[in-house]
Amino acid sequence: MLGLMQDQPLLISSLIEFAARHHANAEIVSRRVEGDLHRTTYREAAARARQVANALDRLDVPFGDRVATLAWNGYRHFELYFGVSGSGRVLHTLNPRLAPDQVVWIANHAEDRVLCFDMTFLPLIKAVWKNCTTVRHWVALCDAGALPADTGIEGLVSYEEWIAPQSTTYDWPQFDEKSAASLCYTSGTTGNPKGALYSHRSTVLHAYGAALPDSMGLSARDSILPVVPMFHVNAWGLPYVAAMTGAKLVFPGAALDGKSVYELIEGEGVTMAAGVPTVWLGLLNHMAPAGLRFSKLNRTVIGGSACPPAMISAFKDQYGVTVLHAWGMTEMSPLGTVCTLKLPQQALPPQQQMAVLVKQGRAVYGVEMKIVDPDGGELPWDGQSSGDLYVKGPWIICGYFKGEGGDPLVGGWFPTGDVATIDPDGFMQITDRSKDVIKSGGEWISSIDIENIAMAHPAVAMAACIGVRHPKWDERPLLVVVLKPGAQVTREALLAFYDGKVAKWQVPDDVAFVDAIPLGATGKMQKMKLREQFKDHRLPTA
Ligand code: ADP
Repeated sequence: MLGLMQDQPLLISSLIEFAARHHANAEIVSRRVEGDLHRTTYREAAARARQVANALDRLDVPFGDRVATLAWNGYRHFELYFGVSGSGRVLHTLNPRLAPDQVVWIANHAEDRVLCFDMTFLPLIKAVWKNCTTVRHWVALCDAGALPADTGIEGLVSYEEWIAPQSTTYDWPQFDEKSAASLCYTSGTTGNPKGALYSHRSTVLHAYGAALPDSMGLSARDSILPVVPMFHVNAWGLPYVAAMTGAKLVFPGAALDGKSVYELIEGEGVTMAAGVPTVWLGLLNHMAPAGLRFSKLNRTVIGGSACPPAMISAFKDQYGVTVLHAWGMTEMSPLGTVCTLKLPQQALPPQQQMAVLVKQGRAVYGVEMKIVDPDGGELPWDGQSSGDLYVKGPWIICGYFKGEGGDPLVGGWFPTGDVATIDPDGFMQITDRSKDVIKSGGEWISSIDIENIAMAHPAVAMAACIGVRHPKWDERPLLVVVLKPGAQVTREALLAFYDGKVAKWQVPDDVAFVDAIPLGATGKMQKMKLREQFKDHRLPTA
């Protein structure tokens, strides 16, 4: 007999049981939709996750069937994460920011059997429940008393009523770690949304990767605030990482405005928070005028779209908070890269360090990447050559749910749709989404570069750069800008701000001032909408 290792499958149930045993009293604090703060522990959450598992057994939901959630970040959603996947069903997190007909389309496509929703979404559910043809059971995430009697929804129960009669003990089934655990659809900016189906193995491996010191660096000494929603790529895996490390968890519920987020960070001693740049804009805009400070927060993970360098500097210089710029996608569970300095870079002067920290960063072990030219030839890691970014690894999809869209892989690699450079130290920098690249006279202009410069102007709250048709150059950049409340700047002054920062031919031809830039269901600027809005925009002739 060879002395081999034990063959224990990597299952999501093991995470919650580990947390319950080793970090039983670590706290989970949630701001509820009712507005109050709810406090529980891993011990209690594990017991209730087991009740969820028993309740699903009672409903005879078959192994592998989808149990959907339409919910904010909170303790009940957390319990479902483990109760649903741990018992062998697939947790399908629906995005409530999508249009109602999209929610219905996705629920039907996923063939959801059970749908659990926060009370904020009751009006939505009332409007669509009859169209969700596969859902048999509706669970409102509230107490029995909070559920109105006359909803008209067949088979509706409150969550508390549903789990209360169930035992808090449960024998988690042991099965193949490659079994499906959770499902998240891409936002489908082009065509129908497609599902990324994560396995138990990919989820646990991703959690190990995300917890590493050069990733999000999480531990039992942290208090984590996932502002990134649990309905979007599993809140970047944070619920699993928190259970794995025993960190305190703080859930913001529906209140994502600057004031609420700030109060939660201070009130709960949050050391690490994670979210998309637009959320942090709200936070910084709340803090700056009032001269507020952080007492415990020491880092924020920012990703989902490019984090403007001005935001990274503001966090560091004004608040002493390190921004960890991260990149990933739904198809990658989502973590691909995180930006942290290497040993020799620690000796660099602050400005040179900043030039590194604005990049999307280095690959986490588990993610391989390469950049390729249009013929598929691999490009050098010289920090200059930019090409299509391809990735592979055990937490990256090999195909979409139900085979939608055919085989996405090219020679075993997943094409991300991003255009990037990689420098000799392995730091990747996104220059654009390939569909957002601006092609001017055969040369490419990075819309992200142009936006980042605008974002450093004190009058600018948000900026998007899009290509607008041009008779001579095919396309020229138009800068679309939202000003900070009360701020003023002229078109000419804003364009002059580019002097010496980019080559002359990269400077936008015009500026459009708008009240708001449309944001998608995951908080990203919807450039497609902007392109549509400005498709007939007439650029001034030079
Ligand atoms: P969706 O594709 O559904 O909009 P995802 O979260 O999967 O939602 O989006 C992934 C994309 O978001 C990436 O391919 C990339 O274009 C963009 N992205 C994510 N993080 C960053 C980042 N730090 N900088 C620039 N772009 C980013």
